[in-house]
This record gives sequence, structure tokens and C-alpha cells, in this order.
Amino acid sequence: MALYITDECINCDVCEPECPNQAIAPGESIYIIDPGKCTECVGHFEQPQCQQVCPVDCIPLDPSYSETRDQLMNKYRALARSVNPAGSLENDYEKSGLRPI
Ligand code: SF4
Ligand code: SF4
Repeated sequence: MALYITDECINCDVCEPECPNQAIAPGESIYIIDPGKCTECVGHFEQPQCQQVCPVDCIPLDPSYSETRDQLMNKYRALARSVNPAGSLENDYEKSGLRPI
């Protein structure tokens, strides 16, 4: 399930750099999340990083994008391949110090 940003967003800019999938970007009036890139941080972290840092708690789950953990992991893998098509995920993990979740 992707997350979305509500109109309570105060444009503090804190969440954008924390997203490991570059899914957060400035919108017309508030920040927005691309549901095609949001994995709930599955594959990178145990908790959604944007939720952890948002000072006004305005990033809930979006029920219109219902996805299982397996589907989120598959989305993560597809995103990783698009960034590094020649490399293996295992190599990515070794380089980044991250581990698959
Ligand atoms: S949950 Fe993770 S992947 Fe989704 S927008 Fe937030 S930081 Fe990015
Ligand atoms: S951290 Fe929260 S308030 Fe700040 S820009 Fe992101 S969504 Fe908006």
C-alpha cells in the first residue's frame, strides 16, 4: 500500500530526502508521493521513513493502493533493477550496507 500526503502538509521539506525510492516530490501546493515508487520502504527499512520524520503526522497509508508485502517487495526489486540493470540485488545490498527485509 502506498502512502499519501494530506493537505496538512506544511512543506517543511524533511521527508523528500529521506525516501529511498525518490517517490516524494514537491507538488503544486504540497508534497506528493508517487504510488508507483512507494514501497512503504519495504526492501530498505522496516518502517516508512517519511512517516518517521514528518513533524505533523500527515502521511497515512492510501487504501486505494492495496498491496501485499510480496507485491511491495516485487516493486522494490523492479525499482532497483531500473536504477542498476546490470547489478545484482545482492551486490546492491553489499554496497549499501542495507539488507533485504
Ligand atoms: S513510505 Fe518509504 S518509499 Fe514510500 S514515500 Fe515514504 S519514504 Fe518513500
Ligand atoms: S515531512 Fe510532512 S509536513 Fe514536511 S514536507 Fe513531508 S509531508 Fe509535508
